[in-house]
Amino acid sequence: MNSLNQLKQNIVVVGAGITGAFIGFHLSKLGFNCSIVDPETDDSRASYNNPGGINPLHGPGIPGEMSAFSMNCYDAHLEVWDEINHLAEIEFNGRINTRLFVAFSEDEAEQLKQMKLLYDNVNGFSATWLDQQSIREFDSRVSVDVVGGLLTTGNATVNSEKYNRAVLSAAYKLGSKRVVGKVSAVHHDGNNISHVRLDNGHKIACDVLVIATGPWMEKINNILKLSIPVRPVRGELLLIHPSTQKTKHDVTWNHYGIYYRGDDYLWVGGTFDDVAYNCRATASGRDAMLAKAKYIIPELTDPLIVKHIAGLRPMTPDGLPVFGKIPGWSNAYIATGGGGKGLLLSAGFGKYLAKLISTDSERYDFQFLSSGRFK
Ligand SMILES: Cc1cc2nc3c(=O)[nH]c(=O)nc-3n(C[C@H](O)[C@H](O)[C@H](O)COP(=O)(O)OP(=O)(O)OC[C@H]3O[C@@H](n4cnc5c(N)ncnc54)[C@H](O)[C@@H]3O)c2cc1C
Repeated sequence: MNSLNQLKQNIVVVGAGITGAFIGFHLSKLGFNCSIVDPETDDSRASYNNPGGINPLHGPGIPGEMSAFSMNCYDAHLEVWDEINHLAEIEFNGRINTRLFVAFSEDEAEQLKQMKLLYDNVNGFSATWLDQQSIREFDSRVSVDVVGGLLTTGNATVNSEKYNRAVLSAAYKLGSKRVVGKVSAVHHDGNNISHVRLDNGHKIACDVLVIATGPWMEKINNILKLSIPVRPVRGELLLIHPSTQKTKHDVTWNHYGIYYRGDDYLWVGGTFDDVAYNCRATASGRDAMLAKAKYIIPELTDPLIVKHIAGLRPMTPDGLPVFGKIPGWSNAYIATGGGGKGLLLSAGFGKYLAKLISTDSERYDFQFLSSGRFK
C-alpha cells in the first residue's frame, strides 16, 4: 500500500451507475474510504436499461486510438467476474456470446468482411463468413433477403441491471458506503475540494471527488465551473417473449438487433434520439424497433412485449469517453461519456481510475481521453 492509502482518504464517488459501481469496487479494494452517492430516485440510468453487450472490437475510435483501451476494459470485466459473483451473490448471467451480423446489401457484406479481420486478429475472438445458404442453415428464422453474414464469438454479455446491482453490492461488501442523495454543491479551498453538499443538506468530507454521473453533467459543470460537453442520447429497448423458435445467439443489423438474454426472453433494440433529459419510452420507438426486428427475422410479427424501457446514453461530441483528472482541480476526477459503449468501458474506468488515484500521478495512459481536450 502506498502512503495515500495509509491515510485512508475519503473518496466521494458521485453516481451509482455501472461506472460509479466499478470505481467504488476498485477503490475499496485498495483500502480507501469510499462513499458512493446517488439519489436512487428512479431506474432510468442507462446502466439498468441496456442489453448488456461487452463488445470491444467495434465502436468510436475502433480500430484506432480506442482499440487498446477497449480491449483492456473488456479484460477488466472478465478478471473480476468470479470475485463479484462470490461477494455479491447476485446472478448477473455473465457469459461469452455468439452474434450473427447480417448484411442486406453487397456494400454491407463488404463492411462485415472487413470486420472479420479484426476478429481474426484478437485472441479469444473469431469470425466466420456465412453466405446466404449457410445463414439459413445456421438460423432459418433470418430473412431470405439477407445476402450474407458474419458469425462471431468472443464478445461478452451480462444482464445489465443485475450486473449494476452486483458490482455495487460487491463494492459495499468491500467497504464502500451507500449514500442516498444528490450532490448539489462543493466546498473548496482554492482548487482543492474539501466537502460535498447533498440536496438533503448533508455534508460529506472529501479528499478526492470522482464524477461518474453519466449524462447528468449540467449540474456538475455548474458546480465545478466546467464545460464538459456530455449530453444525453435516449435509447429504447423492448423485452419480448417470442412465441416462435428459441435460439441462443444475437442477430444484429446496423444499430438494430435481437439479443438473446440467457432465458426465454429477447431484447429488441435500439433507438438513438437527442431529446435532452426526456427518458420516456415512446410508441414511435416501439413501432420502429418492432418493424426492424420483423425485417431481420420475419417470424417476429407480433411478439408479446413484456417490458418497454429507455435509458440516456452519456454522449460526447467526438464519441470518445471523458476519463482522468479534471484540469483546474487538484483532487477531482471524472469517468463518463461512454455513449453506447459505457458498459464495456465501466470496468476499465474503475480499474484505471483507482490506479490513477492511488498513485496520485499527473500523467497516465489514455491521456487522450482527458476532459482537457474540450477546452
Ligand atoms: C438502449 C441502450 C443500449 C445500450 N447498449 C449498450 C451495450 O450493449 N454495451 C455498452 O457498453 N453500452 C451500452 N449502452 C450504454 C451504457 O448503458 C451507458 O453508457 C452506461 O450505462 C453509462 O453508465 P454510467 O454509470 O456512466 O451512467 P448512468 O448509468 O447514467 O449512471 C449515472 C448515475 O449518476 C447519478 N447522478 C447523476 N447526477 C447526480 C448527482 N448530482 N448526485 C448524485 N448522483 C447523480 C444518476 O442518478 C445515475 O444513477 C446502451 C445504452 C442504452 C440506453
